[in-house]
Amino acid sequence: MIRSTSCKVIAAVACRGGDEQMLARTLARLDRCRHVDRIVVLHAPSAAPQVVESDKVKLFAAAGELDDAVRPARLAARRWSSTGWRGGIAGASVWDEPLAAGATVQALDAMGASAALIVGEDWPLVDPALCDAVLERHLQQPDVLKLVFTQAAPGLCGIAVGRELLAELRDKQAMIGSLLMYNPRVPQGDPIGKDPCVQIEPAVRDFRGRLIADSPRWRRLIETIDPAEAHELDAAAIVERLAPHVTDVHDQSPAQVTVELNTTRQVEGPIVPQHHAAIVRPDMTVEQARELFEQLAESPDTAVTLGGLGDPLCHPQWFDIVSAAHDAGLAGLHIETDLIVNTEVLEQLVDSHIDVISVRLNADSAPIYQKLMGADQFDTVLRNIEWLLNHRRNGLPWIVPRMIKTADNVHELESFFDRWMYFCGHAVIESPSTGCGAMPDLSVLPLAPPRRYACRQLAHRMSVHSNGAVATCDQHWASAPDGDLRERWQSLRSLYDQHARGRFEAYAPCAGCSQWYRP
Ligand code: SF4
Repeated sequence: MIRSTSCKVIAAVACRGGDEQMLARTLARLDRCRHVDRIVVLHAPSAAPQVVESDKVKLFAAAGELDDAVRPARLAARRWSSTGWRGGIAGASVWDEPLAAGATVQALDAMGASAALIVGEDWPLVDPALCDAVLERHLQQPDVLKLVFTQAAPGLCGIAVGRELLAELRDKQAMIGSLLMYNPRVPQGDPIGKDPCVQIEPAVRDFRGRLIADSPRWRRLIETIDPAEAHELDAAAIVERLAPHVTDVHDQSPAQVTVELNTTRQVEGPIVPQHHAAIVRPDMTVEQARELFEQLAESPDTAVTLGGLGDPLCHPQWFDIVSAAHDAGLAGLHIETDLIVNTEVLEQLVDSHIDVISVRLNADSAPIYQKLMGADQFDTVLRNIEWLLNHRRNGLPWIVPRMIKTADNVHELESFFDRWMYFCGHAVIESPSTGCGAMPDLSVLPLAPPRRYACRQLAHRMSVHSNGAVATCDQHWASAPDGDLRERWQSLRSLYDQHARGRFEAYAPCAGCSQWYRP
């Protein structure tokens, strides 16, 4: 295919003060891309990184701010799905993390270029051949294939985006990922089976790691390969080398932690665990929470969900506990709630800088809500969601309505999903859990894959009960043993290793559990 001479491509690398060694490695990899005419290092006017310019590598100071006001919301949308190329809230993709759409358009215009390859400053293993493949596909039909990507694991491949589409993203403050997800307003097939997606080797696609050096956890994995050697390897060779080590990155600490503040809820219908089992634990104190958060924050990428079996907003000091979480410096904060609260609490929620509020709605009509949740509060919850959507700032907090799919609400699933995708940009349908037999299985159909593998939550996620004890998993509703947080995590890692060897009965409840496939 002949490439139009009017097409000039830049690799846009937005710099926000990351590690300069990783930046140098990223630029060196990009330097090998045949279809990249210029590598443009974008930066805020007062924060130029230490980069040696050349004919190919140029610094470019953004006119004004490098980032728009909704960048924190884009990052928050990725926090619980950082090992996937997509799958974040509202479809947030790995390319939305480095995206600086406005500055990239400025650079394109200044250089007379028509397309950009979006790459992060800390992607030292980005594969030049994969980047060339997406650029080549884009350049074949730039007016039709306005964005071209691969399904490679995060950090291995940039995305090619045409100038007009980037300007649209800038103007709408939108995410690249929102163009790649199901949208009830513009129904379309999944683009992964179409021309915008360059097909790649399954091993590169299925690798479950994050090859972005933005936290000690993933940096350790990247540094498993000597930099000089890594520079010569392609994506397939890299994932082959790193795959045996990928779950080891969580050996020292979990990436995600669910913290139960209480076991109290305002609803008690048959979809609620407390309807079936007596689950009563003391509320977590502010001091307990503070101590826990400080320990968890030793890993700077730890994301915390306040939830578990209770409703955190029923805790009399939830606001102080949220403040303690922020003081500790956790990477992300998510609350799961029934959202049966008054306006004063809604105002506090908006003021409390929470990233995500999941609303346990479970129905798309008042009668089904009443049937499953056992309360006449459907309209209250809807009003509260609407209030939050109208009063949140710069897209935060994300509001995510959730539905546990059962025989009683399955007929409302489609309208529920489409409604909340439309209003909130995201909705979650999940399978019922039983707490290892503590309540009846309300599943419509079994969802577990046919072939069992090691429980995914043991790999990277921890659950802490309101009395401070670490549970084995989120299906462990009964009392958990006391013990030091790190020691408990180590014992869960050992259990994961047993699972990996096929010993699923090492912890008796695992033998009959059907929740092992959930992330
Ligand atoms: S297999 Fe089930 S019971 Fe075992 S750890 Fe995983 S979720 Fe818990």
